[in-house]
Amino acid sequence: MNKEGKELDVKVSRKAILPFSLPSIDADAIEEVVDTLQSGWITTGPKTKRFESEFAKFIGCRYAIAVSSCTAALHLALDAIGVKEGDEVITTPYTFTSTAEAVLYLKARPIFVDCRKDTFNIDPEEILPKITPKTKAIIPVHFAGQPCCMDEILEIAKSHNLKVIEDAAHAFPARYKGRMIGTIGDITCFSFYATKNLTTGEGGMIATDNEDLTAMMRIKSLHGISKDAWMRYSAEGSWYYEIVRLGYKYNFTDIQAAIGIHQLQRINDFHQIRAKYAQMYNEGFKDLPELVTPWVKPDVEHSWHLYVIQLVLERLRINRAEFIKALKAEKIGSSVHFIPLHLHPYYRERFGYRAKDFPNAFDLYQRVVSLPLYPKMTEDDVGDVIRAVRKIVKTYRK
Ligand SMILES: *Cc1c(COP(=O)(O)O)cnc(C)c1O
Repeated sequence: MNKEGKELDVKVSRKAILPFSLPSIDADAIEEVVDTLQSGWITTGPKTKRFESEFAKFIGCRYAIAVSSCTAALHLALDAIGVKEGDEVITTPYTFTSTAEAVLYLKARPIFVDCRKDTFNIDPEEILPKITPKTKAIIPVHFAGQPCCMDEILEIAKSHNLKVIEDAAHAFPARYKGRMIGTIGDITCFSFYATKNLTTGEGGMIATDNEDLTAMMRIKSLHGISKDAWMRYSAEGSWYYEIVRLGYKYNFTDIQAAIGIHQLQRINDFHQIRAKYAQMYNEGFKDLPELVTPWVKPDVEHSWHLYVIQLVLERLRINRAEFIKALKAEKIGSSVHFIPLHLHPYYRERFGYRAKDFPNAFDLYQRVVSLPLYPKMTEDDVGDVIRAVRKIVKTYRK
């Protein structure tokens, strides 16, 4: 372990494949984990409380509740606002399954609204026609870290008495018209999964300003117990507790918090590096008509969770799968975000969707490639990716 607080080297040799994603865990975080393990308190406790309060301060929200995942956060949030059997919740098919899965846990129905082709985000203009008397909420997903059109979404929600639950798994830290994501909708859900901008291995956070919803989500995140375990077992607590609701086991551990506290201290640096690398990619690809680079709205600060290029397939002799194979041959890892939900067998069979039901999502899906973008990459790595992409484009252009 390096005592200077420097990154431990998980060596990415120039001859080895550049992984699509790698976490940045420093020696301070590792020491904090060891300290937690030796402290005797390894599940939800003082470090979780500290991480929650530092996260809330960073975001500028009143309450932050650490939970086991963003999926759990979405489930608790929808449950807290009263989504139940027979209700409808509007969201986008251009997302990970968690977003719609959480709606289905509550026996409500996800209603998909197609995404915009410029931002990949839910098209506010398409929301209105999908609202029915059963609609309870809207879940905007800030794709790749670019905030959705929140003013329009909030306006629709207000005029139809709907709640707004944000899926901000990609959007930490991000701003919409100067406001931090996490301070806008009724409840915002973040992910600390291994590939996300801030990671604790697995984990999630709920941000809200609503005291009643916070109390409900806290209780339900831990079996519906009226006092959390830390209060119960600490000197000031007691042995007594009551089960007041049907809850879930969605708690966060102090081992995760030990990592999160140190990730949070570095998040502004991480963000700067992501933004710089995204800019390097933009520069590196700007003369290639075979690629569309990410378009960023002027009124947002992008978190640069993902850097997604679109292949102009009409100008290439290969498809996306072949492009990814060629990247792999150049030792560059990549990924696809997302396979739209309506194309997956479960959603297709349950709701009878056809590919063209959401034409923008379907079209984008066939063109997208996510390139490596993370602070542990070096500028040389970014250069390697640019060279590899340019080589493939030049080899296979029409
Ligand atoms: C990663 C992700 C999630 C789920 O996060 P977990 O913490 O793994 O549950 C939800 N929504 C989107 C858009 C994601 O990318």
